Amino acid sequence: MKAISLFSGGLDSCLAIKLIKDQGIDVIAMYIDTGFGGTKDNLAHLENMTKQVGAELKVVNIKEQFVRDVLFDPKHGYGKNFNPCIDCHANMFKLGKAMMEEWGASFLISGEVLGQRPMSQRSDALQNVVKLAQTEDILLRPLSAKLLEPTLAEKEGWVDREKLLGISGRSREIQLAMAKEIGLKDYESPGGGCLLTDENFSNKLREFIKYDKLESGDINILKFGRHFRLDDGAKLIVGRNQDDNAGLEKIDNDKFIPIKLPIAGPFSLISKNATKEDLKLGAKIAITYAKSSSDNLYDIEINGVDTITLSPFENKSQLSKYFFNSKK
Ligand code: SF4
Repeated sequence: MKAISLFSGGLDSCLAIKLIKDQGIDVIAMYIDTGFGGTKDNLAHLENMTKQVGAELKVVNIKEQFVRDVLFDPKHGYGKNFNPCIDCHANMFKLGKAMMEEWGASFLISGEVLGQRPMSQRSDALQNVVKLAQTEDILLRPLSAKLLEPTLAEKEGWVDREKLLGISGRSREIQLAMAKEIGLKDYESPGGGCLLTDENFSNKLREFIKYDKLESGDINILKFGRHFRLDDGAKLIVGRNQDDNAGLEKIDNDKFIPIKLPIAGPFSLISKNATKEDLKLGAKIAITYAKSSSDNLYDIEINGVDTITLSPFENKSQLSKYFFNSKK
């Protein structure tokens, strides 16, 4: 007997797996990568957690499908920010269901807890999700199972319902006690959660789509740096620190080209289709964030081809009107 766990890497998903593993059932931990996770590589954490609870990890990249089918115009709307949680969960369950045959699994599990999150884990929302994904009978939520209708795995006797839990609400007391009891370590994700729940990231995303169609390759652009919108509509991104610079340098996106400074300073990207005026402005902003002086002229290389010679702004306060969130 085998189950697929919709695995987030968090404590609740780990405990859900453990409860099922303890009943002698093999579990595949399916981590679905929407592209909107944090900036830190999460793979070592996912491997560590699945190893501790004895599951096999499989990472499934759905970035393109998520942007195309889920992110915009979700049937059940958004949470507080750009997070379409109900539709996102339903999408994950559908994907899990679609993999059951290939991976030889008989049911799905998730670490959801009834009433834990305001929007996506209310009882009616949980029901909506399974209906949307047509997984009513095959999705078992081990942490709240006793408060929900029995599912196929319980009805068929594959899983002993009595050994499952009936947790509800936002308190994590029971989960923390369980983690301690089974000796689970390092369960806090180092990469942070889904960026779609982050206000600043959501604002950047909203602003991006006013000017451009978001494609999966654009997601990383939104994760790093200070974002500017220039006079003729080009986007400029300027690294704020070493992590940003490293992140931006790794981006392979043919909508953007690099700005190379002749002195130590941030790594920057600007829209490839920027007008000449915007290229000049972008270069001027980029050099303003370097250790530059407004008394000097600097040769700034655009995309390794063109050179623009100019001096920085005298004061960074002159840049505030170009911040992405300063425009209506
Ligand atoms: S927080 Fe992000 S990944 Fe999680 S359900 Fe909501 S949109 Fe999906």
